[in-house]
Amino acid sequence: MNKLQFMRKYSFDENDSINPLLAKWNNIARNKRPIIGNELKSTVCQSGKTAQIWIQSDACRFSKLGACTCCDYFQGQPDVDQVNAFVSALSQMDPSSNTIVLNTCGSVLDKSELKTETLVLIIDEIAKTNVSTVVLETHLNTITEEILKILLPYKNILDIYFEIGIETLNRDINQFILNKLPFDRNINRVIGLIHSYGFRVTGNVMTGFPFLDYASQVLDSVTTIRTLLDTGIDFIVLFPINIKKYTFMYDLYDNGFYKVVNGRILIDILTHFSQEELEYINVGWYGEPRIDIPGYKSDDMIVPYYCEKCYKQMMQLWLDYNCAWEGSEREQILSNMKAIVCSCNYDQLITTHKVEIDFDSLDKAYQHFYSSTDMEE
Ligand code: SF4
Ligand SMILES: [Zn+2]
Repeated sequence: MNKLQFMRKYSFDENDSINPLLAKWNNIARNKRPIIGNELKSTVCQSGKTAQIWIQSDACRFSKLGACTCCDYFQGQPDVDQVNAFVSALSQMDPSSNTIVLNTCGSVLDKSELKTETLVLIIDEIAKTNVSTVVLETHLNTITEEILKILLPYKNILDIYFEIGIETLNRDINQFILNKLPFDRNINRVIGLIHSYGFRVTGNVMTGFPFLDYASQVLDSVTTIRTLLDTGIDFIVLFPINIKKYTFMYDLYDNGFYKVVNGRILIDILTHFSQEELEYINVGWYGEPRIDIPGYKSDDMIVPYYCEKCYKQMMQLWLDYNCAWEGSEREQILSNMKAIVCSCNYDQLITTHKVEIDFDSLDKAYQHFYSSTDMEE
């Protein structure tokens, strides 16, 4: 089956702004997720001098629409005292931290999750600490001139980055597999706007999408990163899909349509970039399980695969990679990873010139969920 036949079969159009089938199936999974209670208003996840602080909020508006088949950023309460939650997190943060990555159940700049007045109070609290860099994790659509103007006065005391989830620039993957909205995002315009105010921007790139063979998975991420770097993005975080319960991706995995991604894919992607470029590409979510959230069990998130023999060593090497400043050092770490002698380490042939979705397999999966969810109704 080719793309056209697939689109005809499921009545998709090139101009669609959402994939209603993915939205429906993803919502069936999401509707079962636990709602986080008031007992956990914030968390701190410390990694070296970086503290990732999560504050409870209402769920992401896109997640409520069934978007983003890989994502579960939780469903929280809409009425938590978020300034208090943040101050309590600050008290648990390592005092030598120099960077705070701030997130909510979706986007810190979405006023329905975090009011602008609350965000300003939180930034005022950060300004009282020794932290010099703040990363605001948010959806591309939430970055407006209005918010940039509000944040402008803080530029003298804090280095502010926006972190946005790009995942992939491949429209077909987006429309038929991921359902990240909107499909056509004006990334150039937003990056330009951020730069015009003197702020910087990090793009998150996700790898290991289902219904793509290994070479296409690698090529998709290489193409996405290359395009973003050419557009002038300041920083990239590359991460493999972690399969989270209460997402459609988990249901694909559970029904045998998707396998856990091999963590080594990151090496095969990164070796496409020069030493200079590697300095701007970090890795994330490469294999460590996430912190505890009430209602969730440790195996509710399936991390990328590494063999038992290599796991510890690879975790250390990825940490070393992120901590290395020089591109040459990063390149050396990647070649050390490639040189590890183990049965799980073999050269994968990357011969493709085009990212190809396997529409036959995708059709089988759609057919499966099409029939089973119709029966549920
Ligand atoms: S990936 Fe971002 S936009 Fe999509 S559902 Fe998750 S938090 Fe929302
Ligand atoms: Zn191994």
